[in-house]
Amino acid sequence: MTGKRITVIGSGFGGLAAAVRLQARGFQVDLFERLPEPGGRARTFQMGGYQFDGGPTVVTAPFLFEELFELAGQRFDRAVELLPVDPFYKLFGQGENVLTYNGDPAFVMPQMEAIHAPDAPGYLQFLRAAEPLLQKGFVELGAEPFLRATDMARVAPDLARLRAYESVYRFVGRYIEHPFLRQCFTFHPLFIGGNPLKASAIYAMIHLIEQRWGVWYPRGGMRSLVEALVALFCDLGGRLHLGTSVDRILVSNARVEGVIAGGERVAADAVVSNADAATTYLQLVHEIPSSVRRRLTRARYSMSLVVWYYGLATDDVPDTLAHHNIVFGPRYEDLIRDIFERKIIADDFSLYLHVPTRTDPSAAPPGKTAMYVLVPVPNLASTIAWDEELGRLEERVLSSIEARFWPGFRRFIEVRHRIDPLYFANDLNTYLGTGFSLEPRLTQSAWFRPHNRSPFIRGLYLVGAGTHPGAGIPGVLLSAKIAEKLVVRDMREVKGHA
Ligand SMILES: Cc1cc2nc3c(=O)[nH]c(=O)nc-3n(C[C@H](O)[C@H](O)[C@H](O)COP(=O)(O)OP(=O)(O)OC[C@H]3O[C@@H](n4cnc5c(N)ncnc54)[C@H](O)[C@@H]3O)c2cc1C
Repeated sequence: MTGKRITVIGSGFGGLAAAVRLQARGFQVDLFERLPEPGGRARTFQMGGYQFDGGPTVVTAPFLFEELFELAGQRFDRAVELLPVDPFYKLFGQGENVLTYNGDPAFVMPQMEAIHAPDAPGYLQFLRAAEPLLQKGFVELGAEPFLRATDMARVAPDLARLRAYESVYRFVGRYIEHPFLRQCFTFHPLFIGGNPLKASAIYAMIHLIEQRWGVWYPRGGMRSLVEALVALFCDLGGRLHLGTSVDRILVSNARVEGVIAGGERVAADAVVSNADAATTYLQLVHEIPSSVRRRLTRARYSMSLVVWYYGLATDDVPDTLAHHNIVFGPRYEDLIRDIFERKIIADDFSLYLHVPTRTDPSAAPPGKTAMYVLVPVPNLASTIAWDEELGRLEERVLSSIEARFWPGFRRFIEVRHRIDPLYFANDLNTYLGTGFSLEPRLTQSAWFRPHNRSPFIRGLYLVGAGTHPGAGIPGVLLSAKIAEKLVVRDMREVKGHA
């Protein structure tokens, strides 16, 4: 592969993993990132001595990172220390309903029994029923490209047998009846931008991925993962260009020729785009069929998020809060419909509270606490006056934290920062300012999702949340694995023909 030049656009986990893989294969890779720092959604905000993980906080399936280091003859555990997070989550419902869970059913089931006795054995049945979903959706097909309709037809009987056409909510409801417990085992699609009422039952596997491979947090925060991948890429001879936007992918005779990056023409034998899939096709490539443009503008997109980052001048965090906390609001199904369908900001909300200092105190100066509070909100296909609405929403959120967990919370805040749908659109260049690109539904998954190799432009490959297999760190790392396979295969063919 020596002598072949590859351009990677974007340094999210998908882009970084693709860059490492291809550089390790002997290509010369140039990675362009429009922001001044790498990581994309996983970038870090540093302010007033605090370090806030900008986006992802839960690391699962760490073997996908290990693979990247092995490719380069290095060891992941020498580069990053992953700390186990136990319990995985603390889930708060209405009133006294609380479930703390980890990977051990013996720890989880007695709590379920106390809430609704039949659901404890139901949980074991759920785990058994979801196991084939994990095997099929993640272990067997996770790194398979779905490039042809026949690829989809081949797996359709299995998907039907596994009831992948059902929603996660319905699938879990077969085994778990209690409304709060049903929430506890159906919220996972929200972590990848999915609506639990619509996302295919296949995504019930996320719970099992956590159970099988654990929930981890990197010492030093997500930044240490991003920095380790950047160092690996550069050690291999890759070239990283920060603060350099790719404005256009150059195409001639339906083949990529390179990109315009930082205003300069850069020739390339292949281009791997980790920019949002919709942005790639709608903005960066000018030569796509109008049917594709239409399909992309009519597709269903994931929700967006607002995240408030708080630096707190105390380390006296209430004992009730764990590292990962999910607080369900008074409504579940209807609130989801408000976010995904009606696209409004309701008076009530569900929260995810991230307290990394519980696992790694280095996220804050000594005696202090770094925390983030996340609320799912509609994407920019809504008509919301964001600044006004989000100001009011923050007031309600802070009041609820004070009432339920932490009296006087506000008075400890000494540093604050916020991201919202406009950040996803303007800073991360994401179509409609979504948190996770295309919504993961069966009709937008696998072959129905933007492919990892463009069917219209030879030499163009896509990785990241908007492509197959989808959002979340494991998903985007797998997309890079697929892209590597395709690039190598295609380059060999070109060489064979030459
Ligand atoms: C708040 C939040 C919390 C999350 N929590 C979790 C979690 O706990 N666990 C989990 O597994 N997943 C989580 N996710 C999902 C996960 O973070 C994402 O799916 C994943 O990180 C996205 O990676 P990506 O490869 O798609 O790239 P992105 O992170 O989307 O990065 C794309 C990069 O491309 C750059 N770019 C765009 N256009 C251009 C251009 N024209 N030129 C140059 N560069 C460009 C952008 O600046 C960006 O850096 C979370 C997401 C969010 C938003």
